[in-house]
Amino acid sequence: MKQSILEICYLIGSVTFIVGLKMMGNAKTARKGNLIGAVGMTIAILGTIFLVEHAFNPLILSLIFGAIGLGTVVGWMTAKKVQMTKMPELVSMFNGMGGACAALISLIELKHHYHTLEDAARDGIQLPTQYGTLIAIFLGLIIGSISFSGSIIAYLKLNGTMNKPIRLPQYNIINLLVMIATFGFGAYLMFAGGNMIMAYGLFALALLYGILFTIPIGGADMPVVISLLNSFTGLAAAFGGFLYDNKAMLTGGILVGSAGTLLTLIMCKAMNRPLSNVIFGAFGGSNAAASNTDVKGSIKDIQVSDLAVLMNYSKKVVIVPGYGLAVAQAQHIIKELENLLEERGVEVKYAIHPVAGRMPGHMNVLLAESNVSYDKLVEMDEINPEFEQTDVVLIVGANDVVNPAAKTDPSSPIYGMPILEVDKAKNVIVNKRSMNAGYAGIDNLLFYDSKCSMFFGDAKKALTELVAEIKTL
Ligand code: NDP
Repeated sequence: MKQSILEICYLIGSVTFIVGLKMMGNAKTARKGNLIGAVGMTIAILGTIFLVEHAFNPLILSLIFGAIGLGTVVGWMTAKKVQMTKMPELVSMFNGMGGACAALISLIELKHHYHTLEDAARDGIQLPTQYGTLIAIFLGLIIGSISFSGSIIAYLKLNGTMNKPIRLPQYNIINLLVMIATFGFGAYLMFAGGNMIMAYGLFALALLYGILFTIPIGGADMPVVISLLNSFTGLAAAFGGFLYDNKAMLTGGILVGSAGTLLTLIMCKAMNRPLSNVIFGAFGGSNAAASNTDVKGSIKDIQVSDLAVLMNYSKKVVIVPGYGLAVAQAQHIIKELENLLEERGVEVKYAIHPVAGRMPGHMNVLLAESNVSYDKLVEMDEINPEFEQTDVVLIVGANDVVNPAAKTDPSSPIYGMPILEVDKAKNVIVNKRSMNAGYAGIDNLLFYDSKCSMFFGDAKKALTELVAEIKTL
């Protein structure tokens, strides 16, 4: 009876994950989808605690609920307090915690496994080797550890603590050797047997590989690694589900793993990088410092009154949002600008680059906050042919995603990345605070283009002034 109720709990958990994930595909239903997934997860957790056959030891129960309470309070408070711009770091940290859990589960199960073998040997019993279980344990340990240490490095890169890629001499070869050593050692322990000291050694080796794999990534290549680490965590959790024959954990892990893998492929396509380069550490081969960008010419700026006239009398305006829009929290004022221009008969669209911002889908989430209609967000491949018929492109806090060096400078760290081809428009206006570089740390020749004018200032303040000025026309 208990077992059947438990299976139903897991079924509810699995179905709610699938429904929740589907709903997260649309900004309007995403919040509800998240909630539905969380309810399913709570049912699966409570079912596991109360319905799995075990002796109800008060100490164990209080430890479980103590840990759940602590995790809930810390998670809740961190998520509540976090600023929108710090969201990508938080997501990376949460992802790392998932990897760490999977690795710890494997370590605990290995301990049980070695104890069982020792007890059996003492009693003179020869136990058959459970290869399926051992594969799940070792892969969970290795992949979970890589995901944990890699995500911590990604966290440090996203919050600016580690803003330069660290490339050891021959890092490709070192990475490959450490990867082979990690999986080779795991296979050795599985077939030849081992002990907990060796298991901790494998844990340390996998953590080292996670660090080595992530530190050389630089320039604008982080999005691919972030989504790959995400899929690793899902995979590691799925191995945990396999290990415990826990359907909800298996479904959750597979969903995260496959969604992360799909996102990785989309990001690879967006960055124009083969996935093999990511895995074997040859990613973003050149250094920001090696870029040949030789900035020539002068920049011109535009006054708010002139910009207001230019936009007010345009037929078509395309807004390019970037990371600076999130920093300035200018999503509401940009929506007001859109409404105002549309009232004046101007067609307004938003051009969305897949890696704009600091996490996949960052711009979509940000603009959804101010109720920008989803139909107005146009993907890069679709909007690029439209720039020729565009009167004004207004770039707000974006830089790398419109940098022509990606097309023209083979020594640039972003060379090969498809960009928004804004230089085809009749007028290009760039709003940012200074001539500072973006995430990739490189100059942008677009700003020196004869069609381009700089509209300097914090995005929220500058756009507020622009809206006020247009209202006077
Ligand atoms: P960039 O990081 O290239 O540029 C952002 C620009 O915003 C800066 O040049 C900055 O210039 C400006 N800015 C900052 N604050 C403000 C403000 N308050 N008001 C106005 N402007 C401001 O952003 P993009 O979105 O163009 O590109 C994203 C980059 O991040 C890419 O290189 C991408 O690969 C990388 N990345 C993306 C991830 C993802 O998943 N999407 C994850 C990790 C990295 P100034 O200081 O002069 O104002």
